[in-house]
Amino acid sequence: MTHPVKHVVSVSGGKDSTALLLLALERCPRDSVIPIFCDTGNEHDAVYEYLAYLEQALNVRIVRLKADFSEWFSVRRMSIAQDSRIGRDKHGRRKRWTNKGKRHALSVLYPTGIPYLDLCMLIGRFPSSQMPFCTQHLKRDVAVSFQTDLIDRGFNVVSWQGIRREESYRRKNAKKIERIGPNLYAFRPLVDWTVEQVFEQHRRAGIAPNPIYLQGMPRVGCMPCINCGKAQITEIAARFPEYIVQKAEWEALVGKASKQRFSTYFNKGLHGDKTLKHIHEANRIEAVIEWARPSRGGHQFDLLTDPIELDACASSYGLCE
Ligand code: SF4
Repeated sequence: MTHPVKHVVSVSGGKDSTALLLLALERCPRDSVIPIFCDTGNEHDAVYEYLAYLEQALNVRIVRLKADFSEWFSVRRMSIAQDSRIGRDKHGRRKRWTNKGKRHALSVLYPTGIPYLDLCMLIGRFPSSQMPFCTQHLKRDVAVSFQTDLIDRGFNVVSWQGIRREESYRRKNAKKIERIGPNLYAFRPLVDWTVEQVFEQHRRAGIAPNPIYLQGMPRVGCMPCINCGKAQITEIAARFPEYIVQKAEWEALVGKASKQRFSTYFNKGLHGDKTLKHIHEANRIEAVIEWARPSRGGHQFDLLTDPIELDACASSYGLCE
């Protein structure tokens, strides 16, 4: 007997995943399409509003998925409280939890309900382009677990992913169809689409793109995404300073939860020398905004003419735009 098929469409609130959802609804029986949104808790409010708009305009329900790390906290607290090892950092320096460091960490290591912040506190640092654990833990694992549940319930799952090859260097070899595992397939129908085709798909369906694109944002993702370039950092700082204030607060919390007693949201390598204090000061979010500020004038993104930066999220799942 063949298994019934569920088409799981990863929706981020961005233009590509919206076009993907429209395509899935065009091509597949409605009751076989399951749109999902993996919520990092680090999104712009406009994303949540846009998802509500899509649900209403398309008469669909988008399943909200959120990583839950609450059980890790007690384990982490215990391991810090009991830790007496003297480790060495990558420069060979002796590094251990001081009693003061332990007190600081134990004072903040409680679940906040914000998956992005909880994950960073547990790991003791923010992700970076070299260590993009955000995509894996907050998006990929959550989506895969949802799909695995469907497979366990007897379905074949087709995972629709809104990746386009022209989007970034890392996605240039993305395959259109791929078997990921037993009863699980990836389908990337937009791989050879242009950005014009993506917007045309919106127009044909009478669906407005996320209005955040009109506010200087070339992508929809975390606020801000760790992979942001200078121009987008400047736009966000100017238009949405409340998210920058929040990230400065997160730096303080994650710093407290970290053995080295600091952590910076961005890892742009702005420090000249490598004393710990200097690394922190040079890379904290206010310093990064200062570094990103253009010397003259501003920069308004144009989706159709501006080159896409090459440091887009590397996830082949297309879970971050
Ligand atoms: S949008 Fe950026 S910061 Fe957010 S999960 Fe994706 S890669 Fe990480």
